[in-house]
Amino acid sequence: MLKKDEAVCIRTIDYSETSQIVTFFGRATGKIRAIAKGSKRPKSPFGGPIETFSCGPIVFTEPRGQKLSVLTEFEQRNIFAGLRSNLFALNGAFLAAELLSSLTIDSDPHPQLYEGFKQFLQSTGHLTVSSEQMTSKAGLLARLVPFQLNLLQEVGTFPVLDHCTNCKRIFSNEWREVYFSSSANGLVCRDCEASFVDKVKLSPKVAACLNDSKLMSGADEKTLSEIENALIYHFTEILHRPPKTARYVLNR
Ligand SMILES: [Zn+2]
Repeated sequence: MLKKDEAVCIRTIDYSETSQIVTFFGRATGKIRAIAKGSKRPKSPFGGPIETFSCGPIVFTEPRGQKLSVLTEFEQRNIFAGLRSNLFALNGAFLAAELLSSLTIDSDPHPQLYEGFKQFLQSTGHLTVSSEQMTSKAGLLARLVPFQLNLLQEVGTFPVLDHCTNCKRIFSNEWREVYFSSSANGLVCRDCEASFVDKVKLSPKVAACLNDSKLMSGADEKTLSEIENALIYHFTEILHRPPKTARYVLNR
């Protein structure tokens, strides 16, 4: 049986001389892995090889178990073309796509996450290197950090950020030392940190930002970088490996 959806391509792998295996994130379906037969032929049924971040209506065979769907139609539109003009923004988009692919499961719908991902790609595509208000990195992180927090929320693993996960003491600006532990899935206070082997130290400013969206939206590049580092540590622990594209975002 055929299914229809609207989707963004989040990953492509060459399968043969003429075909690709493509991962989509669909509004109604969630993650879809499909074979796109003949996509690399001169007369591709998809208007050319399928590109990551292309978006549009798709038709595909209903997925069964671990088997790949077969993509029968995809009207690809390059609506996030701006991403290609800013390498840093593009790398950030690849990181978001990798996390989306790694943390969601096939055929598990997340319509709000789909919209959030599209908005992230849209606004990241509009970033320009010469932006006067923000450097490219701060601009990207100001979009990437909320996307990643939204992703954790949607997959049901949002960390505890308003109190110590161990002794339950409420976080306040009085805390001199703040730690984040992935195994505890949240903040750990100074009195409890010795019990947790895996952890990163956060500055109190970062912990305050994580608890207040207003502070977060006005955060500077240094603060955002510290949050991103903590999130990458967390994703590395969750996935048991560092996200492949993280180093292109962190090392700048
Ligand atoms: Zn504690």
